[in-house]
Amino acid sequence: MPELPEVETSKRYIEQYLLNAKILKIQCYASKLRWEINPDIKKIFNNTIILKIYRIGKYILINTSNKNTLILHLGMSGYLSISETDYKIIKHDHIIINFKCMTGEKKCLIFNDQRRFGHIDFHYTSQLKKHFLIKHLGIDGLSKSLKFDFLNKIFLKKTLVIKNALLDQKIICGIGNIYASEILFYSKIHPLKKVKDLCDNEINSLLLSINNILSKAVLHGGTTIKDYKQPNGKVGYFKQKLKVYGREKLKCYNCGSIILKLNINKRATYICPGCQKH
Ligand SMILES: [Zn+2]
Repeated sequence: MPELPEVETSKRYIEQYLLNAKILKIQCYASKLRWEINPDIKKIFNNTIILKIYRIGKYILINTSNKNTLILHLGMSGYLSISETDYKIIKHDHIIINFKCMTGEKKCLIFNDQRRFGHIDFHYTSQLKKHFLIKHLGIDGLSKSLKFDFLNKIFLKKTLVIKNALLDQKIICGIGNIYASEILFYSKIHPLKKVKDLCDNEINSLLLSINNILSKAVLHGGTTIKDYKQPNGKVGYFKQKLKVYGREKLKCYNCGSIILKLNINKRATYICPGCQKH
């Protein structure tokens, strides 16, 4: 599933073409992905200008001149690409947004999603925080406001284990299963440690790791495990940098212990028992 770095990579790529572009036509070839697609999407964005493209967690948000925001989520296998207007649609292309770039060139944004867990929707920009997908989101994993006091206050009251806390989009949004294992390894924290038991040093170490790992993964275009690729067609090169994820039974690069795979809340979690003591 695309996590924050993969979504940020897609956002940066499409932004080059879409910022200040004019939407000419939206074509829908599916009535439903994860949820129903509002059919009004086809008409209300015609002739609007794209004013801003940004990201919160795993959502790409596109503000348009009609005071609306398009909301895109890539789900498990969603893939955004930019193509010429004579593009021939292929299987699983569900949404095509035709637009005219600032340069006058016409192109289209294609949303392909094989497993259909993605979603496209829209909402009034001023009311965006009330949208059902956005309203419960916590702080973005790369937000400058993600600091010690913020996290400490939340963690003090909670009995859940740190691995599950990192995946909880209502606390920090954007982190998924791959980066959660990596972040905990770098922080030397055992994934089953309860968040209320984390000491100040561990919280600080966690914050540093979240920022370092997510930023580095963005620089490498994300991580390709199965079928993820960047919108330019290249794989994400962060896979080569992974220290524990997917390395079950291999030696830890730090201490030589054998990496273990645990099952926490039905999700694979990779740890080094030497570096991450409970
Ligand atoms: Zn180790």
